[in-house]
Amino acid sequence: MIVKSVKRSRIESVDFDNLSFGSTFSDHMFVCDYANGKWGEPQIIPYAPIQLDPSASALHYGQAVFEGMKAYKDDQNDVWLFRPDQNIKRLNKSAERLAIPQFSEELFLKGLSRLIDLDRNWVQSGLGNSLYVRPFMFASEACVQASPSREYRIMIICTPVSSYYNDNQVRVKIADHYSRAPQGGTGYAKAAGNYAGQFYPTQLALEEGYQQIIWTDAATHQYIEEAGTMNLFFRIGDTLITAPTSDSILDGITRKSIIQLAKDRGLQVETRQLAVSELIEAAKNNMLKEIFGSGTAVVVLPIHGFGYKGDEYQLPINEDSVAQMLKSDLTSIQYNQSPDPHGWRVKV
Ligand SMILES: *Cc1c(COP(=O)(O)O)cnc(C)c1O
Repeated sequence: MIVKSVKRSRIESVDFDNLSFGSTFSDHMFVCDYANGKWGEPQIIPYAPIQLDPSASALHYGQAVFEGMKAYKDDQNDVWLFRPDQNIKRLNKSAERLAIPQFSEELFLKGLSRLIDLDRNWVQSGLGNSLYVRPFMFASEACVQASPSREYRIMIICTPVSSYYNDNQVRVKIADHYSRAPQGGTGYAKAAGNYAGQFYPTQLALEEGYQQIIWTDAATHQYIEEAGTMNLFFRIGDTLITAPTSDSILDGITRKSIIQLAKDRGLQVETRQLAVSELIEAAKNNMLKEIFGSGTAVVVLPIHGFGYKGDEYQLPINEDSVAQMLKSDLTSIQYNQSPDPHGWRVKV
Protein backbone atom coordinates (compact mmCIF):
# COMPACT_ATOMS: atom_id res chain seq x y z
CA MET A 1 0.00 0.00 0.00
CA ILE A 2 1.34 3.41 -1.00
CA VAL A 3 0.73 6.13 1.58
CA LYS A 4 1.19 9.82 0.76
CA SER A 5 0.16 12.02 3.63
CA VAL A 6 -0.73 15.69 3.53
CA LYS A 7 1.94 18.26 4.35
CA ARG A 8 -0.45 20.19 6.47
CA SER A 9 -3.83 19.08 7.83
CA ARG A 10 -6.92 21.13 6.95
CA ILE A 11 -8.47 20.34 10.32
CA GLU A 12 -7.81 23.81 11.78
CA SER A 13 -10.20 25.31 9.23
CA VAL A 14 -13.12 23.06 10.23
CA ASP A 15 -15.85 24.31 12.54
CA PHE A 16 -16.81 21.05 14.27
CA ASP A 17 -19.70 22.77 16.07
CA ASN A 18 -21.44 23.67 12.83
CA LEU A 19 -21.01 20.71 10.50
CA SER A 20 -23.59 20.10 7.86
CA PHE A 21 -23.84 16.37 7.20
CA GLY A 22 -21.50 14.99 4.57
CA SER A 23 -19.94 18.10 3.09
CA THR A 24 -16.61 18.38 4.94
CA PHE A 25 -14.00 15.72 4.24
CA SER A 26 -10.97 14.56 6.16
CA ASP A 27 -7.38 14.94 4.93
CA HIS A 28 -6.96 11.58 3.20
CA MET A 29 -8.73 9.08 0.98
CA PHE A 30 -8.20 5.47 -0.03
CA VAL A 31 -8.07 4.63 -3.75
CA CYS A 32 -7.52 1.43 -5.71
CA ASP A 33 -8.09 0.82 -9.43
CA TYR A 34 -9.11 -2.28 -11.33
CA ALA A 35 -7.91 -2.81 -14.89
CA ASN A 36 -6.81 -5.73 -17.09
CA GLY A 37 -8.70 -8.17 -14.89
CA LYS A 38 -7.12 -7.28 -11.56
CA TRP A 39 -6.93 -4.74 -8.77
CA GLY A 40 -3.77 -2.63 -8.61
CA GLU A 41 -1.91 -1.42 -5.56
CA PRO A 42 -4.05 0.48 -3.04
CA GLN A 43 -3.08 4.03 -2.17
CA ILE A 44 -3.89 6.46 0.59
CA ILE A 45 -3.45 9.99 -0.71
CA PRO A 46 -4.58 13.54 0.15
CA TYR A 47 -8.32 14.07 -0.38
CA ALA A 48 -8.78 15.75 -3.76
CA PRO A 49 -11.07 15.78 -6.81
CA ILE A 50 -10.58 12.90 -9.23
CA GLN A 51 -10.40 12.90 -12.99
CA LEU A 52 -13.09 10.96 -14.77
CA ASP A 53 -13.68 10.48 -18.49
CA PRO A 54 -17.11 11.81 -19.56
CA SER A 55 -17.88 8.36 -20.93
CA ALA A 56 -17.12 6.61 -17.61
CA SER A 57 -19.81 3.96 -17.49
CA ALA A 58 -20.93 4.62 -13.89
CA LEU A 59 -22.25 7.97 -15.14
CA HIS A 60 -24.34 6.31 -17.84
CA TYR A 61 -25.45 2.94 -16.51
CA GLY A 62 -25.23 3.41 -12.77
CA GLN A 63 -22.78 0.62 -12.07
CA ALA A 64 -21.97 1.95 -8.60
CA VAL A 65 -22.31 0.66 -5.04
CA PHE A 66 -21.42 2.08 -1.65
CA GLU A 67 -21.22 1.49 2.08
CA GLY A 68 -21.72 3.60 5.19
CA MET A 69 -19.99 3.09 8.52
CA LYS A 70 -18.62 5.16 11.39
CA ALA A 71 -15.48 5.53 13.51
CA TYR A 72 -16.01 6.46 17.18
CA LYS A 73 -13.70 7.94 19.81
CA ASP A 74 -13.88 6.94 23.47
CA ASP A 75 -12.92 8.91 26.60
CA GLN A 76 -9.31 7.66 26.41
CA ASN A 77 -9.05 8.98 22.82
CA ASP A 78 -9.00 5.47 21.39
CA VAL A 79 -10.72 5.11 18.02
CA TRP A 80 -13.09 2.22 17.22
CA LEU A 81 -14.86 0.81 14.22
CA PHE A 82 -18.11 -1.14 14.53
CA ARG A 83 -18.36 -4.48 12.68
CA PRO A 84 -16.29 -3.32 9.67
CA ASP A 85 -16.07 -6.93 8.41
CA GLN A 86 -19.81 -6.75 7.79
CA ASN A 87 -19.40 -3.66 5.62
CA ILE A 88 -16.83 -5.18 3.28
CA LYS A 89 -18.84 -8.42 3.04
CA ARG A 90 -21.90 -6.40 2.09
CA LEU A 91 -19.93 -4.19 -0.32
CA ASN A 92 -18.83 -7.33 -2.16
CA LYS A 93 -22.38 -8.69 -2.12
CA SER A 94 -23.63 -5.42 -3.63
CA ALA A 95 -20.75 -5.45 -6.13
CA GLU A 96 -21.64 -8.97 -7.25
CA ARG A 97 -25.24 -7.93 -7.97
CA LEU A 98 -24.00 -5.02 -10.11
CA ALA A 99 -21.40 -7.18 -11.90
CA ILE A 100 -18.54 -5.28 -10.24
CA PRO A 101 -15.45 -7.36 -9.32
CA GLN A 102 -14.89 -8.39 -5.70
CA PHE A 103 -12.36 -6.53 -3.58
CA SER A 104 -10.12 -8.28 -1.04
CA GLU A 105 -11.63 -8.16 2.48
CA GLU A 106 -8.17 -8.13 3.96
CA LEU A 107 -6.90 -5.22 1.84
CA PHE A 108 -10.07 -3.29 2.54
CA LEU A 109 -9.79 -3.70 6.32
CA LYS A 110 -6.08 -2.85 6.26
CA GLY A 111 -6.61 0.22 4.09
CA LEU A 112 -9.57 1.34 6.16
CA SER A 113 -7.65 1.01 9.39
CA ARG A 114 -4.64 2.87 8.00
CA LEU A 115 -6.86 5.67 6.66
CA ILE A 116 -8.74 6.15 9.95
CA ASP A 117 -5.46 6.03 11.83
CA LEU A 118 -4.03 8.82 9.65
CA ASP A 119 -7.19 10.89 10.10
CA ARG A 120 -7.82 10.00 13.74
CA ASN A 121 -7.91 13.67 14.77
CA TRP A 122 -11.00 13.99 12.61
CA VAL A 123 -12.87 11.59 14.90
CA GLN A 124 -14.28 13.90 17.55
CA SER A 125 -14.98 12.49 20.98
CA GLY A 126 -18.36 12.82 22.67
CA LEU A 127 -21.47 10.67 22.34
CA GLY A 128 -23.06 11.26 18.95
CA ASN A 129 -19.89 12.60 17.32
CA SER A 130 -18.19 10.33 14.83
CA LEU A 131 -16.35 10.12 11.56
CA TYR A 132 -18.72 8.86 8.89
CA VAL A 133 -16.85 6.58 6.51
CA ARG A 134 -18.02 6.17 2.93
CA PRO A 135 -16.49 3.33 0.88
CA PHE A 136 -17.73 3.12 -2.71
CA MET A 137 -16.98 1.35 -5.99
CA PHE A 138 -17.86 2.47 -9.48
CA ALA A 139 -17.32 1.64 -13.14
CA SER A 140 -14.64 3.92 -14.50
CA GLU A 141 -13.98 2.63 -18.00
CA ALA A 142 -14.25 5.25 -20.75
CA CYS A 143 -16.89 3.49 -22.84
CA VAL A 144 -20.61 4.01 -23.43
CA GLN A 145 -21.29 0.43 -24.44
CA ALA A 146 -24.15 -0.96 -22.36
CA SER A 147 -22.22 -3.80 -20.77
CA PRO A 148 -20.22 -4.22 -17.59
CA SER A 149 -17.22 -1.95 -17.41
CA ARG A 150 -13.74 -3.43 -17.65
CA GLU A 151 -12.33 -0.83 -15.25
CA TYR A 152 -13.38 0.07 -11.73
CA ARG A 153 -12.31 2.20 -8.82
CA ILE A 154 -12.84 1.65 -5.10
CA MET A 155 -12.46 4.62 -2.78
CA ILE A 156 -12.98 5.41 0.88
CA ILE A 157 -13.65 8.98 1.99
CA CYS A 158 -14.49 10.26 5.48
CA THR A 159 -16.69 13.08 6.72
CA PRO A 160 -16.99 14.19 10.35
CA VAL A 161 -20.52 14.26 11.79
CA SER A 162 -21.64 15.75 15.06
CA SER A 163 -24.45 14.86 17.36
CA TYR A 164 -27.37 17.10 16.79
CA TYR A 165 -30.44 17.36 18.86
CA ASN A 166 -33.55 16.73 16.85
CA ASP A 167 -36.84 16.94 18.65
CA ASN A 168 -38.92 17.25 15.51
CA GLN A 169 -41.78 14.83 15.24
CA VAL A 170 -40.96 12.32 12.53
CA ARG A 171 -43.93 11.43 10.36
CA VAL A 172 -43.70 8.92 7.56
CA LYS A 173 -45.91 7.95 4.66
CA ILE A 174 -46.64 4.30 3.84
CA ALA A 175 -46.16 3.83 0.10
CA ASP A 176 -49.25 2.79 -1.85
CA HIS A 177 -48.11 3.69 -5.36
CA TYR A 178 -44.35 4.08 -5.85
CA SER A 179 -41.91 1.26 -5.10
CA ARG A 180 -38.29 1.19 -4.01
CA ALA A 181 -37.29 -2.31 -5.04
CA PRO A 182 -39.05 -5.13 -6.88
CA GLN A 183 -38.53 -8.82 -6.19
CA GLY A 184 -35.51 -10.00 -8.10
CA GLY A 185 -34.18 -6.44 -8.28
CA THR A 186 -31.28 -4.68 -6.59
CA GLY A 187 -33.00 -3.70 -3.32
CA TYR A 188 -30.71 -5.81 -1.15
CA ALA A 189 -27.62 -4.19 -2.66
CA LYS A 190 -26.38 -0.78 -1.59
CA ALA A 191 -26.63 0.36 -5.19
CA ALA A 192 -26.46 4.07 -5.99
CA GLY A 193 -29.46 3.78 -8.29
CA ASN A 194 -31.72 2.53 -5.49
CA TYR A 195 -31.39 5.98 -3.98
CA ALA A 196 -31.88 7.88 -7.24
CA GLY A 197 -35.25 6.18 -7.69
CA GLN A 198 -36.43 7.22 -4.23
CA PHE A 199 -35.73 10.93 -4.43
CA TYR A 200 -38.75 11.96 -6.48
CA PRO A 201 -41.44 10.07 -4.50
CA THR A 202 -39.75 11.22 -1.29
CA GLN A 203 -39.94 14.84 -2.49
CA LEU A 204 -43.66 14.39 -3.07
CA ALA A 205 -44.03 12.94 0.44
CA LEU A 206 -42.09 15.91 1.88
CA GLU A 207 -44.52 18.28 0.18
CA GLU A 208 -47.33 16.42 1.95
CA GLY A 209 -45.59 16.99 5.30
CA TYR A 210 -43.88 13.63 5.78
CA GLN A 211 -40.12 13.22 6.32
CA GLN A 212 -39.73 9.79 4.78
CA ILE A 213 -41.51 6.96 3.05
CA ILE A 214 -42.09 3.49 4.43
CA TRP A 215 -41.76 1.28 1.40
CA THR A 216 -44.08 -1.65 0.88
CA ASP A 217 -43.59 -4.67 -1.36
CA ALA A 218 -43.61 -3.63 -5.00
CA ALA A 219 -46.03 -6.33 -6.14
CA THR A 220 -48.98 -5.69 -3.80
CA HIS A 221 -48.11 -2.72 -1.52
CA GLN A 222 -49.53 -4.83 1.31
CA TYR A 223 -46.42 -5.65 3.30
CA ILE A 224 -44.02 -3.31 5.07
CA GLU A 225 -40.42 -3.41 3.81
CA GLU A 226 -38.10 -0.62 4.98
CA ALA A 227 -37.61 3.12 4.92
CA GLY A 228 -35.03 3.33 2.16
CA THR A 229 -32.15 4.50 4.36
CA MET A 230 -33.25 2.66 7.49
CA ASN A 231 -34.68 -0.71 8.41
CA LEU A 232 -37.84 -0.59 10.51
CA PHE A 233 -39.02 -1.98 13.83
CA PHE A 234 -42.57 -2.02 15.13
CA ARG A 235 -43.49 -2.68 18.74
CA ILE A 236 -46.94 -4.20 18.91
CA GLY A 237 -47.78 -4.97 22.53
CA ASP A 238 -44.51 -6.31 23.91
CA THR A 239 -43.28 -7.80 20.66
CA LEU A 240 -40.74 -6.18 18.38
CA ILE A 241 -41.42 -6.96 14.72
CA THR A 242 -39.12 -6.39 11.76
CA ALA A 243 -39.42 -7.55 8.18
CA PRO A 244 -37.21 -10.47 7.16
CA THR A 245 -34.41 -9.50 4.80
CA SER A 246 -35.09 -10.44 1.21
CA ASP A 247 -33.86 -9.44 -2.20
CA SER A 248 -35.82 -6.19 -1.86
CA ILE A 249 -34.63 -5.26 1.65
CA LEU A 250 -31.18 -4.08 2.66
CA ASP A 251 -29.61 -6.27 5.32
CA GLY A 252 -28.74 -3.48 7.76
CA ILE A 253 -25.89 -3.96 10.20
CA THR A 254 -27.69 -1.75 12.72
CA ARG A 255 -30.81 -3.89 12.19
CA LYS A 256 -29.08 -7.15 13.02
CA SER A 257 -27.26 -5.58 15.97
CA ILE A 258 -30.55 -4.22 17.34
CA ILE A 259 -32.19 -7.65 16.97
CA GLN A 260 -29.32 -9.20 18.94
CA LEU A 261 -29.41 -6.52 21.66
CA ALA A 262 -33.17 -6.86 21.98
CA LYS A 263 -32.78 -10.63 22.44
CA ASP A 264 -29.98 -10.01 24.96
CA ARG A 265 -32.53 -7.93 26.90
CA GLY A 266 -34.99 -10.81 26.79
CA LEU A 267 -37.38 -8.96 24.50
CA GLN A 268 -39.52 -10.93 22.13
CA VAL A 269 -38.42 -10.28 18.55
CA GLU A 270 -40.27 -11.56 15.53
CA THR A 271 -38.64 -11.42 12.11
CA ARG A 272 -41.64 -11.75 9.88
CA GLN A 273 -43.73 -10.04 7.28
CA LEU A 274 -45.97 -7.32 8.67
CA ALA A 275 -49.05 -6.42 6.66
CA VAL A 276 -50.08 -2.77 6.51
CA SER A 277 -53.57 -3.94 7.54
CA GLU A 278 -52.15 -5.56 10.70
CA LEU A 279 -50.26 -2.36 11.52
CA ILE A 280 -53.39 -0.24 11.15
CA GLU A 281 -55.44 -2.70 13.17
CA ALA A 282 -52.83 -2.53 15.94
CA ALA A 283 -52.80 1.28 15.80
CA LYS A 284 -56.61 1.39 16.10
CA ASN A 285 -56.58 -1.02 19.08
CA ASN A 286 -53.86 0.98 20.84
CA MET A 287 -51.56 -2.03 20.59
CA LEU A 288 -49.03 -0.24 18.38
CA LYS A 289 -46.59 1.21 20.89
CA GLU A 290 -43.57 2.26 18.85
CA ILE A 291 -42.10 2.49 15.38
CA PHE A 292 -38.42 3.18 14.88
CA GLY A 293 -35.88 3.09 12.11
CA SER A 294 -32.34 1.72 12.37
CA GLY A 295 -29.31 2.66 10.32
CA THR A 296 -25.69 3.73 10.72
CA ALA A 297 -26.40 7.43 10.14
CA VAL A 298 -29.37 7.80 12.52
CA VAL A 299 -28.56 4.80 14.80
CA VAL A 300 -32.17 4.57 16.01
CA LEU A 301 -34.83 7.05 14.92
CA PRO A 302 -38.22 7.06 16.68
CA ILE A 303 -41.18 7.66 14.37
CA HIS A 304 -44.13 9.51 15.84
CA GLY A 305 -46.84 8.97 13.28
CA PHE A 306 -47.65 7.70 9.84
CA GLY A 307 -50.05 8.34 7.01
CA TYR A 308 -51.66 5.75 4.79
CA LYS A 309 -54.07 6.45 1.93
CA GLY A 310 -55.04 9.81 3.40
CA ASP A 311 -55.59 8.63 7.00
CA GLU A 312 -53.27 9.78 9.77
CA TYR A 313 -52.15 7.70 12.72
CA GLN A 314 -50.40 9.08 15.79
CA LEU A 315 -48.26 6.97 18.10
CA PRO A 316 -48.39 7.26 21.89
CA ILE A 317 -45.69 9.30 23.66
CA ASN A 318 -43.23 6.89 25.29
CA GLU A 319 -41.09 8.06 28.18
CA ASP A 320 -39.24 4.73 28.48
CA SER A 321 -39.18 3.57 24.91
CA VAL A 322 -37.59 0.37 23.72
CA ALA A 323 -36.09 2.50 20.92
CA GLN A 324 -34.23 4.68 23.42
CA MET A 325 -33.09 1.69 25.46
CA LEU A 326 -31.72 -0.20 22.46
CA LYS A 327 -30.10 2.93 21.06
CA SER A 328 -28.29 3.44 24.33
CA ASP A 329 -27.23 -0.25 24.47
CA LEU A 330 -25.83 0.04 20.96
CA THR A 331 -24.06 3.38 21.29
CA SER A 332 -22.43 2.40 24.57
CA ILE A 333 -20.85 -0.55 22.77
CA GLN A 334 -19.83 1.65 19.83
CA TYR A 335 -18.22 4.27 22.12
CA ASN A 336 -16.49 1.67 24.31
CA GLN A 337 -18.57 2.54 27.36
CA SER A 338 -19.79 -1.00 28.00
CA PRO A 339 -18.56 -4.55 27.51
CA ASP A 340 -18.72 -5.93 23.99
CA PRO A 341 -20.07 -9.48 24.43
CA HIS A 342 -20.42 -10.12 20.70
CA GLY A 343 -16.97 -8.86 19.67
CA TRP A 344 -18.31 -6.07 17.45
CA ARG A 345 -15.75 -3.35 18.24
CA VAL A 346 -12.47 -3.13 16.34
CA LYS A 347 -9.74 -0.86 17.63
CA VAL A 348 -7.94 1.34 15.09
C1 LIG B 1 -27.56 1.47 4.39
C2 LIG B 1 -29.01 1.16 4.38
C3 LIG B 1 -29.71 0.77 5.54
C4 LIG B 1 -29.07 0.72 6.90
O1 LIG B 1 -28.02 -0.20 6.97
P1 LIG B 1 -26.95 -0.11 8.16
O2 LIG B 1 -25.97 -1.16 7.85
O3 LIG B 1 -27.68 -0.35 9.41
O4 LIG B 1 -26.39 1.28 8.11
C5 LIG B 1 -31.05 0.43 5.42
N1 LIG B 1 -31.68 0.48 4.22
C6 LIG B 1 -31.03 0.85 3.09
C7 LIG B 1 -31.78 0.84 1.81
C8 LIG B 1 -29.69 1.21 3.13
O5 LIG B 1 -29.08 1.58 2.00
